[in-house]
Amino acid sequence: MIADDPQRKEKLSRLIALIGGIVALVGAFLLCVIAFAGWSANFASLTQERQLIENQIDQQIARILSEQTSIALWDPAVVATSPDTFDDGFVEREFGIFFSDTYGHDEVFVFAPDGRPTFAFVNGERRSLDVATARRSEISAIVDHALGDGGERLKERPSALFEDIRNAYANIENAGEYSRWSGHLMNVDSQPAFVGGLTILPPTDRSLLNGPPSVLVSINYVRGSFIDGVGEVLLLPDLRLVDSPPGDSRLGTLPLVTDDGVMSGYLAWTTRRPGQMLLTTILPLGALVVVLAGLLSAFMFQRLRRAHDELSTREADAWRQARSDALSGLPNRTHFIEELGRRLETTSSSQSVLVAYIDIDRFKVINDTMGHEAGDHLVRQVSERLTEFLPGSDFVARFGGDEFAVLRSTRDDKDGDKLSDVLKRAFADPFQISVHKTQVTASIGVASAPRDGTTIEQLMRNADIALYESKNNGRDRATVFVPRMAQRISERRAIELELRDALENDRLALAYQPIVSSESSEVDGVEALLRWTRDDGSSVSPADFIPIAEEVGMMPSLGAWVIDRALEDARRWPDLKVSVNLSPAQFNNVDLSHQIHDASQAWGIHPSRVVFEITEGVLLDASAQTRSTLGAIREMGFEIALDDFGTGFSSLQYLSEYEFDKIKIDRSFVQGISKSRRSLTIAQAVVSIGRGLGMNVVAEGVENQADAAVVQLLGCTQFQGFHLYRPLAADRIDVIVKALGPVSHLPARQAAAFDPRRAKAS
Ligand code: C2E
Ligand code: MG
Ligand code: MG
Repeated sequence: MIADDPQRKEKLSRLIALIGGIVALVGAFLLCVIAFAGWSANFASLTQERQLIENQIDQQIARILSEQTSIALWDPAVVATSPDTFDDGFVEREFGIFFSDTYGHDEVFVFAPDGRPTFAFVNGERRSLDVATARRSEISAIVDHALGDGGERLKERPSALFEDIRNAYANIENAGEYSRWSGHLMNVDSQPAFVGGLTILPPTDRSLLNGPPSVLVSINYVRGSFIDGVGEVLLLPDLRLVDSPPGDSRLGTLPLVTDDGVMSGYLAWTTRRPGQMLLTTILPLGALVVVLAGLLSAFMFQRLRRAHDELSTREADAWRQARSDALSGLPNRTHFIEELGRRLETTSSSQSVLVAYIDIDRFKVINDTMGHEAGDHLVRQVSERLTEFLPGSDFVARFGGDEFAVLRSTRDDKDGDKLSDVLKRAFADPFQISVHKTQVTASIGVASAPRDGTTIEQLMRNADIALYESKNNGRDRATVFVPRMAQRISERRAIELELRDALENDRLALAYQPIVSSESSEVDGVEALLRWTRDDGSSVSPADFIPIAEEVGMMPSLGAWVIDRALEDARRWPDLKVSVNLSPAQFNNVDLSHQIHDASQAWGIHPSRVVFEITEGVLLDASAQTRSTLGAIREMGFEIALDDFGTGFSSLQYLSEYEFDKIKIDRSFVQGISKSRRSLTIAQAVVSIGRGLGMNVVAEGVENQADAAVVQLLGCTQFQGFHLYRPLAADRIDVIVKALGPVSHLPARQAAAFDPRRAKAS
């Protein structure tokens, strides 16, 4: 339902917000993953580079010690460095020049067992022993350790690296307490340097060692060849030593804290940063994709929302259109039924729901005579009147055509009558139709829930029954439903079903009431009157069943049957005219003139022998089709009689508009005419008009001699009535025709002497 639309809109907004949130979250998550992957790849690489460099530092220390052992653990070296046999040339050659040239040691010192320096070689040159003394204070931890005077207590290096040197000392027999060595990263001359210090021992001739051994110390500065070598090995070509950490984020740094705890500079290099591709290319691209996806979804959501809004509007329009009447703008039948259902569901037990049906009387005439535009205009005016006269709480609808309906919820028992009164008042003032102000009336039927029904179907059917009652009772009235009406309807329904059955199974018959000529006192015609005897033997008056047949649409077939049978019977009485009644329904529904023509051809009856009787009902709502049918029937040579003359609204007007061969004065004017001056005057006038227009005038319902005499005197040309003949079966007519034989013609002037009983069947 359209009423749910705001809820649906809110649901959609919530869904869009949810999807939008999910898209944003997924986007953010994706970017975080890329960023983290990039950052962690960089971090892992940097960590690895740092570890490799640290490892190179350890290796370098181990290497220096290993290089030192190549000379220090050598028998001649022990002799040459012993204070007693110190060989200056040997030491300079094998220690100074060899370590400097072969291994690139920056500084080489030898200390005597008492700690005194005995040799100093710096940057490839022999130096004074003062240099060694000065250095000793900086590297005392190592020198003292090697001399066995304490020292060391420096940061430990991974022991696995020193396996070789440990083995070398272990292989020297009885080295014992003299197996002293240590290698560390130290701060020397305000810069980091690898320092290795160890005792000089004889690996083969133990006897050479007479007391504590001398000590060899090598210093190799981190700057220079070490850095170049490590840079080459680790593929870090720009590895360098700097004093302070560089601010450049592209550079990896490693603080060089020496093993004696001094911060002595930083190693810096351009780190590989394998995650950089992710961070500088993939991440921005990812961000772009996420932003684009966000924009695209926002655009799509907007489109979706717009499409949804458009759809909702269109749905609402369609809903409105499907439930409203285009001409009046009022709700239509569908909407009325929905609203009635809703009210029936929601109305409390102390309330009633009134349903009023309103039908504009003779709307068809207005439509046919004044045009459809006038009809439409009237419908609009009626709609406006109803809305104007009824309170806003009433639900007014148009069912189409000239039918309207009103719904009212009320607690007032008398509201049915009150509603009828308001509706009648709404029609009290004339309506503007074309240029005229015209009085328009309406028939109204009211039913009330729960009294007259609790379902939509019951209420609508009962309101319709009440409306039908109003129409049946002469229109321009309101009727409140009572169960008796429904009873009548169901009886009518039963009659309808039986009548259909009777027609199909040929259980209908025609009676013929003779019509007597006043001139000849002779039966010169018969009127065919439909007879129906029900299965239970009871007979139903055509006055009762013909209106039902008309209503349920049976009249065309029933009428056709009558025409056919009457013309068939007419062959039996070649001297008589046969009158056949025609109903308005026959004019509306079939091509009557062809039907009549075909029947007269089929039975070989000359048109001049057949009179068709129509009532004002045919002329009342006469359409162009009715008029042309009437014209065609007359043109073929059939006669037309205006039946029940005087009972309608504008009998005289029809006489001026149409041509008839005959008028039949209604029996209500004929019965008791001998006693009623009023009837006499009217009948007299009718006869005079009829004769004046050259028509035959028939007096219907002549029931006694006195009345017969009067109508004869008045100049009626024919009589019909129980006083003469009742309607009779066809074979009785055969008898009458035979018995009468050639009847002597009464001169018209001797009408007073006419005794209609003469003409009665014996
Ligand atoms: P109507 O055409 O005016 O027929 C005359 C009615 O008056 C007949 O009633 C007839 O029996 C009755 N009648 C004749 N003389 C007298 C009389 O002296 N006193 C009284 N009280 N009544 C008399 P019926 O047969 O009951 O028919 C009633 C109406 O039903 C007819 O009135 C006619 O309008 C209609 N009708 C009958 N048969 C047909 C038919 O085949 N087609 C159509 N369309 N209408 C028919
Ligand atoms: Mg008749
Ligand atoms: Mg009549």
